[in-house]
Amino acid sequence: MTACALCATNTSLTDVTLAPGDDVVGLCDVCAAAVAGDLTPGPRWRCLDDAIWSEAAGTQIAAWRLLKALQAEAWAAELLDMVYLDPEILARAEAGVGAASAPEGTIEVEHRDSNGVRLASGDTVTLIKDLPVKGTSIVAKRGTAVRGIRLVPDNAAQIEGRVNGQQIVILCQFVKKSD
Ligand SMILES: [Zn+2]
Repeated sequence: MTACALCATNTSLTDVTLAPGDDVVGLCDVCAAAVAGDLTPGPRWRCLDDAIWSEAAGTQIAAWRLLKALQAEAWAAELLDMVYLDPEILARAEAGVGAASAPEGTIEVEHRDSNGVRLASGDTVTLIKDLPVKGTSIVAKRGTAVRGIRLVPDNAAQIEGRVNGQQIVILCQFVKKSD
């Protein structure tokens, strides 16, 4: 018997494929239904506090999507703020959210900063928290200005910009547009 990747319930599990990617995660019936869109908010979902820190991409994606669906609840919104997913995994997680709410081909990609202000290519933004730069020992400090950003096409959550001479991907939720 194995435990559900999200809530750790020992039961028979369903292998759920997290479209549009091919990440697979073993879930109990309740969690599988929630990932498919049938989610009832409640304390049971505090299990995501642990699940989101899993090292398995499938578990991260499933947990992130549920947190997104629950973000009206303060704890879920806080957790989403705290979590830093690998940009590629985050892209897959978000792709599924878009697929669920809008028909393919009609998704308009809007990049918005942490305050919901729309970003455009060439804008200057300021980091609102210290961000480790993946694959390096560099930490991009909170307050760092990033000039001449580029919007990542097809991913509303990401921009690119130069920090300490390095071109990096930055999540929109961690920046603020400068005047
Ligand atoms: Zn479960």
